[in-house]
Amino acid sequence: MKTTSLLSVFIFLISITGYSQDNFIVPKGNEKAYDKQTRARDGNPGKNYWQNRSDYFINTTVDVENKIITGEERIVYYNNSPDSLKTIVVRLYQDLFKKGANRNSMVPVDPRDVHDGVNIKSVLVNNIQLEDKLLKRQGTLMFVRLNKPLAPGNNTELRITWDFSFPQHTLIRMGTIDSTSLFVAQWYPQIAVYDDVYGWDTRSYNGMAEFYNDFANFEVEITVPASFMVWATGEPLNIKDILQPEYYNRYAKASLSDEIVHVITAGDLVKGNITNLTGASKTNTWKYKASNVSDFAFGISDHYLWDVTSVEVDKSTKRRTVVGVAYNEKSVHYDKVCEVSRETVKSLSEEMPGIPYPFPYLTVYNGDFGMEYPMITNVGTEEDYAMTVYANSHEIAHAYFPFLVGTNETKNGWLDEGLVVYMPEKVQTRITPDLYIPKQNTSAFSVYAGMEDEPALITPTHYLDPKVYFYLNYAKTEQALRMLEIELGEDVFKKCLLAFIDRWKYKHPTPLDYFNTFNEVSQQNLNWFWQAWYYQMGGIPDLAITGVEKTGNRLSVTVENSGDLPLPVVLSFYNNDTLIKTITEPAAGWLNTKKRIISYDLTVPVTLIRLSNDIIPDANRKDNEVLQE
Ligand SMILES: [Zn+2]
Repeated sequence: MKTTSLLSVFIFLISITGYSQDNFIVPKGNEKAYDKQTRARDGNPGKNYWQNRSDYFINTTVDVENKIITGEERIVYYNNSPDSLKTIVVRLYQDLFKKGANRNSMVPVDPRDVHDGVNIKSVLVNNIQLEDKLLKRQGTLMFVRLNKPLAPGNNTELRITWDFSFPQHTLIRMGTIDSTSLFVAQWYPQIAVYDDVYGWDTRSYNGMAEFYNDFANFEVEITVPASFMVWATGEPLNIKDILQPEYYNRYAKASLSDEIVHVITAGDLVKGNITNLTGASKTNTWKYKASNVSDFAFGISDHYLWDVTSVEVDKSTKRRTVVGVAYNEKSVHYDKVCEVSRETVKSLSEEMPGIPYPFPYLTVYNGDFGMEYPMITNVGTEEDYAMTVYANSHEIAHAYFPFLVGTNETKNGWLDEGLVVYMPEKVQTRITPDLYIPKQNTSAFSVYAGMEDEPALITPTHYLDPKVYFYLNYAKTEQALRMLEIELGEDVFKKCLLAFIDRWKYKHPTPLDYFNTFNEVSQQNLNWFWQAWYYQMGGIPDLAITGVEKTGNRLSVTVENSGDLPLPVVLSFYNNDTLIKTITEPAAGWLNTKKRIISYDLTVPVTLIRLSNDIIPDANRKDNEVLQE
């Protein structure tokens, strides 16, 4: 340990005794992880940190006409835990469409899409057919009881064959976009996460809360009718064999250039013959490969346009990310999405977070909803251009959370969503000045904050009803992050964020790992901040000017915190329309008081004093301005 870091640890310890960490509830699983040293109390992974992983080898066929997905897969599952596993938990997300499934009211399923569940045709463990009595289906899960426990450090092989009816009338992150355009996700039997904090993740998918996945390698072969394109997670291994040379050459050129190349145009679609094979009875098998990713999704269509470009995301290695947009010609604004995507990837790589885009490929698939998967996003069409920019840049930014840093979306949706709302804010406003989330969200939050039934931000996402799901996981968490950025200053905030990414990339952090990393790296005990913004139920943002005294040239402004949230104090002094001075005081000043006096020595007469600004929330702005004589 270097002396400088010794000093920082010392300062950290002092500040802990000052504020006491007792007000922090440490869940049982985290305590256990600290005891076993799989995680450290300073927010780092522990020296005994482990996680399990899988290799997936999948062959699938999409029957576009009948909307049936058929698959066979071989999964090699590596048990890196210190535990013997008697059971392996497999997710069958499509059981969301099973008759009688427990679904969130936010995600109504069209009755025409309800079926009997995923048809599991066979399960083999290490090449031995598993007896039916060793399989148990519950919710969207399948429990595979092993004949012999899987010992620590060993691996086991599962072979599963299955099919299911693809939803034709319901769009929940995946589904039928039009009769020959399908976005396919949550589609293969996937091993659930077994981790050091919670053990097996056995929460069923109810359509609302999102996902928590281990990192895995995928080799996937997707068979579709010959005239269809397939865009998917990973590297397209045999695209050269499938596309006619003219189209492959356009694609290859785009993947090395900043220029946007229209690889498939409307005219090309009329001509046909984009792929090597044609004819109704023929098929192509597209091969994709992806390493160390947490999921695999794909989109297909026989009539989508395709724009492709690429961006140098890492100046030191000259690594490029190939950025493509597959879309319907009729989708408004989609002709600009390739540029929006390229600028977003560039900004994420260079400014916020300023880490080279972590994947070599990105496809924006023009589908429905707005959902992220590794290297592919599914984004609907928006009439409003600003919303098009927002939705696309948002889903692209998810590459960092949860795909680089493997956060648990099912429990902590606020963690990835908040950061992903926050990170592209600057590039969004650059692309379209109509979009300035800091102001728009502050104004919305000022109105909604402190709802009677508002739970704490830390509330596990799977408990949330739709009304608060979006409010907490997008609006409030973005506010909390920006208030934290003001508190720490841009540089320290970014340093903490980068440290969190570096510590937890390709790993599974919990909220405490996040809070403790910020505490340690900023060398400040921020528990009061986490307590107020994340653990407190509700809370109204409301500061007020309650008095101004003038003694000689000195103005003393009394500011009271009439609400429940610790906000920074930003006081602006004006002479008529001219801003003379702005004083910013940290939110930490509210720790032991509801009333603060801020003084300012006048150099010119002041006619107006204004508290806060349009990026600091305030439920009642009427008491934020005082006119001076
Ligand atoms: Zn999101």
